[in-house]
This record gives sequence, structure tokens and C-alpha cells, in this order.
Amino acid sequence: MSPPLDPLNETNGDFAELYRKTPIMMHSIDRQGCLLAVSDFWTEVMGYTREEVIGTHLTNYLSESSRRAAEETYLPRFLRVGQARNVPYQMVKKNGEIIDVLISAASEKDAEGNVLRSMAGIVDVTEQKKAEQEIYRLAHYDQLTGKPNRFLLRDRLHQNIAQGSREGHKLAVLFLDLDRFKWVNDTFGHHAGDKLLKIVAERLSSCVREVDTVARIGGDEFVVVLYGILSNEDPATFARRFLEELSRPTRIEGREIINTASIGIAIYPMDGHDVDSLLRKADTAMYAAKELGCSTYQFFSTEMAERAKEKLLIQNQLRRALYGKDLTLNYQPQIDLRLNRITGFEALLRWNCPTLGQVSPARFIPVAEETGLILPLGEWVLQTACTQAVAWRKAGMPPLRMAVNISARQFSRPDFTDMVERILSETGLEPEYLEIELTESTVMDRMQDAIATLTDLKVRNINLAIDDFGTGFSSLVYLKDFPFDRIKIAQEFVRDLSEGSDNKAIVSAIIAMSRTLNLHVIAEGVEKLEQLKFLQSQQCHEIQGYYFSRPAPAELISKAYATGALN
Ligand code: C2E
Ligand code: MG
Ligand code: MG
Repeated sequence: MSPPLDPLNETNGDFAELYRKTPIMMHSIDRQGCLLAVSDFWTEVMGYTREEVIGTHLTNYLSESSRRAAEETYLPRFLRVGQARNVPYQMVKKNGEIIDVLISAASEKDAEGNVLRSMAGIVDVTEQKKAEQEIYRLAHYDQLTGKPNRFLLRDRLHQNIAQGSREGHKLAVLFLDLDRFKWVNDTFGHHAGDKLLKIVAERLSSCVREVDTVARIGGDEFVVVLYGILSNEDPATFARRFLEELSRPTRIEGREIINTASIGIAIYPMDGHDVDSLLRKADTAMYAAKELGCSTYQFFSTEMAERAKEKLLIQNQLRRALYGKDLTLNYQPQIDLRLNRITGFEALLRWNCPTLGQVSPARFIPVAEETGLILPLGEWVLQTACTQAVAWRKAGMPPLRMAVNISARQFSRPDFTDMVERILSETGLEPEYLEIELTESTVMDRMQDAIATLTDLKVRNINLAIDDFGTGFSSLVYLKDFPFDRIKIAQEFVRDLSEGSDNKAIVSAIIAMSRTLNLHVIAEGVEKLEQLKFLQSQQCHEIQGYYFSRPAPAELISKAYATGALN
């Protein structure tokens, strides 16, 4: 065996010069792994002098994990094969700094093929590696909260499911959506919204264990995966604890905000075996929680899925529905009890869907609201109802009020008043014959804006009615700040006016208070003579209900009027 040679030995002439000066990190080792020579650039980068390193073992300059890899796999294999290409290592500089490198090496062998020594070229890829990590972070983590994003969540959930199936463990997927996040953003600005999201992410993380995942998958939506739950009580306990944690007041822009969220829960393997179905079902359950009112959680159920399916069906069919063919208006008379005659009509939407049959507005209006379809649909209703009112007048009917229901989404449009005014001028209906019906929540949710819009309508002489009064949480006291003309007592109170029912007291109180506030009162859903008698005894101004007439198509009303039945 020839003695180890030093590549830097003077006798190597030009090669020694080249080896030393080449601006590449190079080193040579003997078959034990001890350094025989290093290039100038090697010493420069690593911060050692040549004298310090020659004769020492290569592994002294490797990080803990690289040292293990070198001892266990790389060096033994290298001594057999004598070749290596782009082996990733971490080297440690004299000052302790770690750099990522790729080492490529070739060796000199003796006649028997044993490696005598080797020479390696080393490339510093620290910057590249950092860039790669940054790209990974950008692609897998949410920038704002630093939590896993949708992609990493899917990855983790996938792994959790695989592990759960191997080890026979259950897991829970919780879909969480903040209540009123839009309100925070709109009221305090995006900066405040961002701050809130960070707080939520931190509070969520403080409620979970190391093995669980907290991800932000969009806007104000978070997903938590709880691995290895023992019973359904576990995610419920988590949901309760988190809702409690979340409701601790938060100071944002100098104001205290109480946050709430709605949480939907799906369980593996009970509700699904794959990522998509678990996320979808947790999402469905979240919507059900929202519908129940805020700050609550719901487990997924098949009945929920049925409802979600129906909603989707309605949504698709409604998009296809043709106004004037599948969608029509019916009109229900409103009767003044003192004058004993019809003073107005309420326009009510009817949908005869070719696939679903007759669909009640109570089912399709909320879907139309959610999808925004209510905007074109609502405009069509207003246009059609106003046109009908003018047509009846032209046909010789006495001037009657036309009441039209307006949803929250329509009412909150900044151009709402303009739209109403345009339709009035297009159809030629005088504003005093139009009445706009709004529910309590429509006006109460945005009090200041609502007062401004209502005043705008009122100065144009349009009538304003508050619909389904008593079902919201408002009191008549608030109403004095709004320019309403009429209160419609909700059907639920009128339905049961029997002796001993609280409703009698409620209805008389509403009527008495309305009188002091100078508001007209109309009772909805009057079906029986006893109800009518009671309302008369309380001096309720008007009634609407099956007792007098069901909502009917325009032609039927025209005919009834022509035959004198409605006079
Ligand atoms: P609403 O505005 O409170 O309308 C009164 C509802 O009570 C109507 O139901 C009407 O048919 C029903 N009704 C009237 N008299 C009686 C009665 O004596 N007994 C019973 N049990 N019910 C009676 P409908 O037509 O099913 O409408 C339900 C709701 O859908 C309406 O409640 C309204 O909130 C909404 N809606 C209907 N049409 C429109 C529309 O064009 N636009 C908007 N935004 N919402 C509408
Ligand atoms: Mg109404
Ligand atoms: Mg009503």
C-alpha cells in the first residue's frame, strides 16, 4: 500500500497550486476519514487554519445529524464504492455557524480496489436551502397567523387518517367560522380584523395538544384536527372550552369586543373515511350551528346533509327559474276593521318549480338571500307589484296600498332608495300607495344606516311597515326612533289567542303601545272569527289572514272585484 499523499506537496507542481487556489471548497481524506489537505477557500469559509485541521477527522466539522449519517452510512459505503455525488451535509464553521453543503467525491484505489484516499469538492447551498424552506413555508403556512394553511391541513389530515386506520384510532375534524367577522372588518378596518384572526389562532392553539392541528383555511375559517379521541364527548369538550376561551373580551382599536364562533364537528371513521368528506361534513355541521344562533357547536348528522342537499337543489333550480313563469306573485288583502273594507294588498312570491313543485318562500327566500339572487328577484317583485297596482287602478279599482317584502340584503344596498324611486317612476305608481315591509332584524342589525335609509324613503312619501313584529328582540321603545307607519303583529301571537294564553296580553300590549307611538297596527294570520273579535275589542286597526282571504293570483282578485265581491 502506498503512503498517503498530500495533494499540496510541492512535488505535485501545478496541481498543488490549482488545488490550493481554486475558489471551491475542497478537501482530501485518508481511508480513516482524516483530513489530508484542504483548499484555501475551505479554510476561508470554515474559519480554521490549515494547521488546525490537517490530521483531524472529517466528522469534527459536521453537525450532529450529519455526523451520524456519515458514520453510519456515507463513509462505510464510500469506502466500498469510492464515489459520491451531491451528498447533502451540514458543516459547522469554527464560529459555530452551520452551513448546508453538497459533497461530491472521487477516490484513488490500490491494485486490490481498496480506497486509499479521496478528494472532494464541496458546494455551499445554504442560501438555496433557505429559499426552498421559504417557498415551502409560503406554500404551506398562512402568512398572517403562521398556522398551517389548507394544503398542509389536507396533508396532515391525510396522514392522521392513515395512522388512525392503522392504529384503530378515531379523530375529530372541527370546522370553525367566526360570527360577525365581517362586522369587525367593516367597523374597525382590516388591520383590526387581522389582529383578531391572530388572537383567534393563538387561543385555538392554546386549547389543543401537540399532536393536533390548527389550520386557517381562508377568511375567518379555521379547522382543528383532534387526533386519537376516545369518545364524541372529547371534541364537544374542546368546542365548549374554545368557545369560552374565545368569548374572553378582546381589546381592538381601543374597544372591547366579545367574539363568538360557530363550530361543526365530523368524526373519523363514523362520518367519513377521506379528507374531502370529513371536511365537507364538518362544514355542513358548521352551517347548522350558525343557523341555531351564534356561539355554538353541532355534530354532523345525515339529516343535516339532507337539508344541505335540498338547499343546493333550490339554489340551482332558482337560478334557472324564469320570472313571470315559474315565479309569480300572489296578493293578500288587508282589511281595515273600522272602515270594513280592503285598504291594501301584500305581494307574496310563489314559486312553482318544475322539479320541486310548489316551494314555500320560507324555504327559498333564505337561499336567495345567501346567494345574492334576492337582488334581481326582489327588484322583479317590486316592479311587478307596482305595475299590478297601477293596472288595478286603471281597471277602476279604488286606490289601494301595495305592500312589498324587502329582504335585509336588498335593503342594505346603497342604491336601494334609487332603485325604488326608479321603479315608481317607471310604473307610474304614486309613492303613498307603496308600502315597504321590513323585519325587525333587518333594521336592528344596522341601526344608524337603517334610520338614514328609512328617512330617505319616508321623505319620498313611501309607507314603511315593520313585519313579523315580536319575533325579534327589539322593543317598541326602539321603534320611536324609526319613521315606521305600521306594525304587523307576527302570526305566532295571533295563532293562539285562547283564554289563558300569554298571547292575549302580548297582543293588547303591542296595540296599546303602538297607539301611544302613533303607529297603525295590523294583525297577521287571522284565521278565525274569535281572533277577529278579540282584535276588534282591542281596537286593532287592520287584519290580514285566511279568515278574510288567502293570497290569490292577480286575475282572481280582478275577477272578484269585477263581480262586486270585494267592494
Ligand atoms: P310574511 O311577509 O310575514 O308574509 C305573511 C305570510 O303569512 C305569507 O306566507 C302568507 O301566505 C301567510 N299567511 C297569511 N295569512 C295567513 C293565515 O291566516 N294563516 C297562516 N297560517 N298563514 C297566513 P308566505 O307567502 O308563505 O311567505 C312567507 C314569508 O316569505 C313572508 O312572510 C315573507 O317574509 C317572505 N316573502 C314572501 N314573498 C316575499 C318577497 O317577495 N320578498 C321577500 N324578501 N320575502 C318574501
Ligand atoms: Mg310581509
Ligand atoms: Mg309577516
